[in-house]
Amino acid sequence: MSDCIFCKIVRGEIPCRKVYEDDELFAFHDIHPVAPVHFMLIPKLHLASLQEVNGSHAVLLGKMLVLAAQLATEQGLDDGFRTVINTGRGGGQEVFHLHIHIIGGGHISPMVRRE
Ligand code: 5GP
Ligand code: ZN
Repeated sequence: MSDCIFCKIVRGEIPCRKVYEDDELFAFHDIHPVAPVHFMLIPKLHLASLQEVNGSHAVLLGKMLVLAAQLATEQGLDDGFRTVINTGRGGGQEVFHLHIHIIGGGHISPMVRRE
């Protein structure tokens, strides 16, 4: 996707603080972190959201989860971390290239507030 900002980051057209790269996956720090450690893990393949995936992406998605935990540990999140995937406008997604947020290192509030 030529005008997708995360595809541009993968291609090096927009600078980022890279955490990891291999043939299929790319990870970089969020430009507006919500915690001391906040990075995103994305497939290089442009998939707009989790609602775009099908069975052919199962291995790729599995690799993302395995790598998420490995990178979190490498970033010092030994005590745990939060993973977030916002999906679609109804899920608060702002950048329409599938990504997993990996967040930790500070106070993590309850994800859903029950009034
Ligand atoms: P979403 O709301 O789609 O789940 O999250 C998109 C995330 O991308 C946001 O946390 C936002 O801060 C981050 N972001 C948006 N543009 C850029 C950018 O150009 N560089 C980086 N590193 N992060 C970005
Ligand atoms: Zn993209």
